[in-house]
Formats: sequence, structure tokens, C-alpha cells
Amino acid sequence: GEVILEVDDLRVSFRTHGGQVQAVRGVSFSLRQGETLAVVGESGCGKSVTARSLMRLLPEHSSELGAGSSIRWKGRELTRLKEKELRKLRGAEIAMIFQDAMTALNPTLTIGEQLIEGIALHRKVPRSEARRLAVDMLELVGIPSPEARMKQYLGEFSGGMRQRIMIAIAASCSPSLLIADEPTTALDVTIQAQILDLFRMLQERTGAAIVLITHDLGVVAETADRVCVMYAGEIVESGTVTELFRRPQHPYTQGLLAALPRLDRERGRSLVPIPGTPPDLFAPPPGCAFAARCPHAMEVCRLHRPQMAELGGTHAVACWLQDPRAARPPASGAGAG
Ligand code: SF4
Ligand code: MG
Repeated sequence: GEVILEVDDLRVSFRTHGGQVQAVRGVSFSLRQGETLAVVGESGCGKSVTARSLMRLLPEHSSELGAGSSIRWKGRELTRLKEKELRKLRGAEIAMIFQDAMTALNPTLTIGEQLIEGIALHRKVPRSEARRLAVDMLELVGIPSPEARMKQYLGEFSGGMRQRIMIAIAASCSPSLLIADEPTTALDVTIQAQILDLFRMLQERTGAAIVLITHDLGVVAETADRVCVMYAGEIVESGTVTELFRRPQHPYTQGLLAALPRLDRERGRSLVPIPGTPPDLFAPPPGCAFAARCPHAMEVCRLHRPQMAELGGTHAVACWLQDPRAARPPASGAGAG
């Protein structure tokens, strides 16, 4: 498919009482129509902030987008859109699915009301037609007796059913992009698998692209076409699922995968922490953010930030081990580019 989303040098920082936190530090990636891209990393690595930035869902007063950051959606620059234009885009072209439906949706409205409202607004159809489409959508995502269930509230459903309902609402306006932030994290393994199947089915039917934010490598292996591994606000490695899982090149990715020796056979395994902690994002280190935890760290790693370099195919990594310039590093203090 054609490229629908291009993110270039995304930088997001937050003002806090403790100072400025650099949550996302120069993230670039693109996404094609119909593709599933997983963004994987530990809690606090910037993956959720990246996802929310795509829909411009960050708090205006406390967050700041980098001056050179660009998010191009089908050729339009989202970073410059007015709130009114963004509202038209959200739901209709780009929709988001969260971990917890109870906080993401309105528990005081019936699910029918929430579905009908969205459909009537974005598809500009009469309410009777919106109602019919809403019932169809519930049926599609596997809600039994959808007609009767329309009158119920979110709290009356199980966790798995709530996720199905949230997915129905997100998909009801046929968005070209679904962003799912830890959509199966709160669910048990069997229900997780059903929800991932539902994503696949919806994607086949609608051709939507999916950005899947997760800390679960099992979910990545089963669902994604391509993966970006994030660490301390940066993408440190990216490639197809096969490239990454078969030949991980970044010591961080290698560490994550080493903790999952039987990934092919076991589902739902989470990231096992690598010894040490990520750097302080109030004052990120000048060099590689992983240097303090990396068994291969060299002097150049602590002084200069490694840049993403292509390894062939679509595989790319930001690590001095893979960069021939490491033999002749830039002069100290000049930065790595
Ligand atoms: Fe380790 Fe250096 Fe590579 Fe960073 S750049 S991951 S410290 S080898
Ligand atoms: Mg998160």
C-alpha cells in the first residue's frame, strides 16, 4: 500500500514541577496503508506519548512539540492543524483504542448512544441509519444479541466485551488508521487472543493500518508486520517482525528477546527487565541512552549519540557496534550529527 503516515523527528517534552522532561527525542517512522506497525518498549519509553501525538491528544498547556517535528497524514501536516480540523480527523480518519474502556469511553451513556453519536457525526447519515450501522458493528465485533445490548452500559459488560465495544466504536467510521495503546494488556491470555483475532479480521475487511503500542513481545510476534523498538524516547531498532526476532542487532532488543527463549510457543509473555534503569529524561545523556546498561558499551557510546543506520532490507539500528564510523568517531563535543 501507499505511505499514509510519515513521522519525522518527533520530539515531545513536558513541563513539570521538576523541570522539562524529554519524553520523545527524535522519533521517525512511516506507515503504509493496511500495515500493522508495533511500537514496543518498557513503560516510560515514550511509546504512548508518540501514539497520542499522532492524534494531537497531548495536553496543550504542559506539552511541547519540537520545532522541527513533522507528522504528515496523507500529505497534510498535522502539527499545524487547528483543533477544529483535528476534531474532524479524529474518529473519522484516525481512531484510537485504549487499555481501559471504562476511562476511555463514557460509562454514563448506553453503548448504543455512543456508537450512534459517532456514526451520525462522522458519516453524516440520519439517526435511523446510524442505528442500523451501530447494530451491524456490534455484531461484527462479536457482541451477542447486539440489538438488545445497545441499551446497556459499559459497566454491564466483561473486560473482553468492553474492548470489543471500544473497537466497534473506533472502527465504526471506517478510519484508515487505528491506534491501539496496550489494547489487550488488562485481559487474560485467552481473551487477548480473541481480541487480536478481531483486529486481524477488521483489518482484512477495512484495509485500515494499525499502530499497536505494546510492551508484550508475544502480541508483537502475532500481530505486527513491522516493529519499532523504543528506548528512552528514541527508536533504537526497526524492521520487519522476522528481521527483528531472528536477527536483533541492538543490545537492548537482544536483551528483551533473550528473556523470551520460547516466544514462538508461549503467548502473552511480557518484557522481563534488563538489569539497570533507563536514563533520567530530565537530563538525557549525550551519547547512547542505553550505554549504562549495555554489556558492549565503548567510549564512543558515552560521548556520541548513535544514529539510525540501515542494515539492508527494512532493518535499521542505532548502535555504534553497527556503525563503521565508530572506528573514527567525531571529535569529542562535536556531536554525532
Ligand atoms: Fe551499547 Fe554502544 Fe550500541 Fe549503545 S551504541 S547499544 S552502548 S554498543
Ligand atoms: Mg503507556
